[in-house]
Amino acid sequence: MSDVWTELLGAHETARRADRGLVPQHKPNAAVLSCSDARVPPSVVFGQVHGDLFVVRNAGNNATPAAVASLDFAVGELDVDLIIVMGHTECGAVAALYDLATDSLSELHDPNVPQTEIAQEAP
Ligand SMILES: [Zn+2]
Repeated sequence: MSDVWTELLGAHETARRADRGLVPQHKPNAAVLSCSDARVPPSVVFGQVHGDLFVVRNAGNNATPAAVASLDFAVGELDVDLIIVMGHTECGAVAALYDLATDSLSELHDPNVPQTEIAQEAP
């Protein structure tokens, strides 16, 4: 077992003993779509405690169908009336997507690449 996992299990047990486990009701004040980057946990960024925020996270805070369905659940079932989409600086996921998009656009505009070759590579 890794040292990190052992440390997390110990912290979980400490929190459980302090009765900081699940809150009795699931009534968050807001929903947040944010990046999975470990440097920007929404509860810490907004100074909230567990139970205050309904958080949906993925790399680059993308509004994927699953993320949108989760936010729809927060609004429809939990009566959340505020959705925050939180990006951050130096996002590796957004940078990677930007690089991918610019590389693809560069290839599309490369006069040395025959257009028929590009068309065959397209999904
Ligand atoms: Zn990010």
